[in-house]
Amino acid sequence: MPPALSPELSIVVPVYNEEDVLPLLAQRLRPVADGLGATYEVVTVDDGSTDSTAVVLQRIRREWPELRVVRLRANAGHQAAISAGLAVARGDYVVTLDADLQDPPEVIAQMLAVARDERVDVVYGVRSDRSSDSAFKRLSARAFYRVIRALSGTSAQSDAGDYRMMSRATVEAVNSLPEHNRVLRFIVPALGFPSASVSYRRDERAAGRSKYPLAKMLRLSIDSVTGFSIAPLRAATWLGLTGGLAAVALLVYALVAQLVGHTLPGWTSTVVAVAGVGAVQLLCLGILGEYVGRMYAMMQARPTYFIAYDSLTGPATSSDAP
Ligand code: UDP
Ligand code: MG
Repeated sequence: MPPALSPELSIVVPVYNEEDVLPLLAQRLRPVADGLGATYEVVTVDDGSTDSTAVVLQRIRREWPELRVVRLRANAGHQAAISAGLAVARGDYVVTLDADLQDPPEVIAQMLAVARDERVDVVYGVRSDRSSDSAFKRLSARAFYRVIRALSGTSAQSDAGDYRMMSRATVEAVNSLPEHNRVLRFIVPALGFPSASVSYRRDERAAGRSKYPLAKMLRLSIDSVTGFSIAPLRAATWLGLTGGLAAVALLVYALVAQLVGHTLPGWTSTVVAVAGVGAVQLLCLGILGEYVGRMYAMMQARPTYFIAYDSLTGPATSSDAP
């Protein structure tokens, strides 16, 4: 397919240190993609991998011309890697899926059919069965969605991750958002395009290890909340107020006790006051910090990723050739 022609479908795959999984992915994705009856491109976004991912991708590309390799200069994170893919994808529809085959590629055909037949802009992949995830992951995920929905008022479905198909109009809308640290699974529903969903069974990771340690999961949760809601800031106000009132009450009590001559060495009250107020202050400062950090990132207006190489257009500079 000549580069001037846009394909009907782009399949965006973020890839971070997935050397073991990529051959398996190609093996399963290719027959699905070839059987769609639509022109397509697979946009793999190499998110600054440090293993042999880049080499493996080039090797697969030699036999699979529809595979496009985009490399980011440094690890930008899952959401930023998807964003990079959305920015360069050319398809009338764009589907995003993980590289590790937890999102079965066969569902793409269903998504495309639903998108076309029901004339919707977004088709969410909803996990019908999460038995492949650990109990901790399931539990934390459920709590995560409940909290975000309550705080943000978005209509994001539980168990809808980043396996979704979007129309060109939706992708353009996402690309136009200047927001940093964006969590696409909440942003896309908030855009309000007509949508439908298909359910699928989330499989085990086909090979390799999860690139989502607890710290990154926490990061995603905090970004989800601060990206959609200032409820924590309001909570900080109330917390500060309550803590402050309690401190004042304690102060009055201490003074009265002093006047009455009932002056035991005030160890307990001192500790309670110092610890209590300190805790409230630190918490509120932390919450403030999250929002200030977001504003800081946005004011810098620095791109969240840099593309080093795109097999469609060649390297950004000659030293970036694979
Ligand atoms: N990923 C990425 N950049 C990162 C971390 C992960 O592009 O910094 C990719 C990863 O290669 C995979 C997808 O994001 O295709 C989901 O990651 P993973 O499967 O490790 O997460 P989990 O399924 O364990 O939540
Ligand atoms: Mg995974």
